[in-house]
Amino acid sequence: MAPKRSSYIIVGAGVFGVSTAYHLIKKYPNASITLVDRDEYDSGDRVAASWDWNKVVRADYDDIVYCQLGLEAQDVFKSDPLWKPYFHETGIFWTCRSDYATEVIENYRKLGRKADLAAVPVAEARKMYGGLFDEADYSGVKEVLINKTSGWAAAGDCLRAVTKETLRLGVKYVTAEVANLLFDKSGRCSGISTADGQQLYASHTILSTGAYTPKLLEQSAGASGLSELRAGDRIVAGGITTGMTKLDDQTYQKFANMPVGVQGYNAEEGPFIGSLPPTKDKELKWWGQTIFTNMQEVSPGHRISMPPSKADYAQWDIAPRLKKDIDHANQVFYGKKGANWKMEKHRICWDAFTTSADFIISPHAAAKGLYVATCGNFHGWKFFPVLGKYVVEMLEGTLEPKLSQKWAWDRERPDSSFNPDYPRAEMADLIAPVRLSKL
Ligand SMILES: Cc1cc2nc3c(=O)[nH]c(=O)nc-3n(C[C@H](O)[C@H](O)[C@H](O)COP(=O)(O)OP(=O)(O)OC[C@H]3O[C@@H](n4cnc5c(N)ncnc54)[C@H](O)[C@@H]3O)c2cc1C
Repeated sequence: MAPKRSSYIIVGAGVFGVSTAYHLIKKYPNASITLVDRDEYDSGDRVAASWDWNKVVRADYDDIVYCQLGLEAQDVFKSDPLWKPYFHETGIFWTCRSDYATEVIENYRKLGRKADLAAVPVAEARKMYGGLFDEADYSGVKEVLINKTSGWAAAGDCLRAVTKETLRLGVKYVTAEVANLLFDKSGRCSGISTADGQQLYASHTILSTGAYTPKLLEQSAGASGLSELRAGDRIVAGGITTGMTKLDDQTYQKFANMPVGVQGYNAEEGPFIGSLPPTKDKELKWWGQTIFTNMQEVSPGHRISMPPSKADYAQWDIAPRLKKDIDHANQVFYGKKGANWKMEKHRICWDAFTTSADFIISPHAAAKGLYVATCGNFHGWKFFPVLGKYVVEMLEGTLEPKLSQKWAWDRERPDSSFNPDYPRAEMADLIAPVRLSKL
């Protein structure tokens, strides 16, 4: 049984929110649990970062906590019939310009996990996978991490299937834009109000709102007068461009069994770039290297980064400079091989970042009954099967101290300059008109 009189509103049906709902209903089959999202869960067009054609699934982390979490999630992907159909164990091919490969291998060893992974010299790596990456950019590369047990997942399909199962188990789904948080006289969070005038109440309100989280907190701080609700510099919304090409049948044959490609850079050079194997529709995907904020004044004197205010976050409106970012990604993986590929689809995907690249899975310090479970930092999808387990532990106060400190709302955070993936550009500069000759 759920703790007496417990009820749960989870705002946001991305991987953090759905995983939380799934683990809660599995543990407490009779609990009142409501997922609230602005988009239908099975819509063909969602703003969630978690809704995507495909995402990398790996445990290749130099941070042992995420290495262990990644392995735990992969164990589910590889064995549980709910998740298994969406995981593809293609392996990963990761150029390392630091000691990353050695650190990952060492983490596997410390965790007592055996896997087919190795740090391979560049000359040897170039010849692997039929030479698919022989024209890649290897400047500054020390070695290539090959982990045959990593891969990717059909992200949107998986999110839809797990949400559907969660609803079958008894979770309710409300499609509505959450406008504000509600508080009782004692200052305890008592639920949410929606833009269309509904008010929903629960003993626990969990924000799994991804990149929108700082804006929702800002709005709620303005409406309630509880200024401590604001995220401040804890969470920053950042956008990244993805792009896809559709391979012709002949090229597809060569790339069908390719591993995930990652170009790893050091913090001073920029974020890592990725290339995902073709989907069932023969579409090969990249993400770019430019990660940007969209600074806006939400209320007088309060400027924060947030996704564009259009209902679809303007995710399909891609400036020429951001399309160039994908062309660059293509070039550093495939060189001349990809020179004539036509880019068919581009999308800007918004996620929530912290300077340490850690999630926030924590009570919110400013109000009882309010919790935050989000901040995927551009790497949160792969933990989908297990995220909710840790959110439930947080709600129940049983999260181990090491994790509750790491994922706390209030903690010391490092300078963002150490985080290669932290947003460093500003959207307004990227969408400003530019003469084509300058591109
Ligand atoms: C381009 C890109 C590539 C990535 N690649 C990978 C990868 O390969 N592997 C990996 O592991 N991770 C990857 N990630 C990261 C991963 O996608 C995210 O960390 C993760 O999906 C975040 O999940 P979330 O549940 O916090 O947020 P989201 O998935 O963004 O979900 C938030 C939900 O909240 C809803 N919402 C927000 N505000 C409101 C409101 N006011 N009212 C109602 N609903 C609201 C939104 O509609 C949305 O559905 C990538 C991210 C990006 C952007």
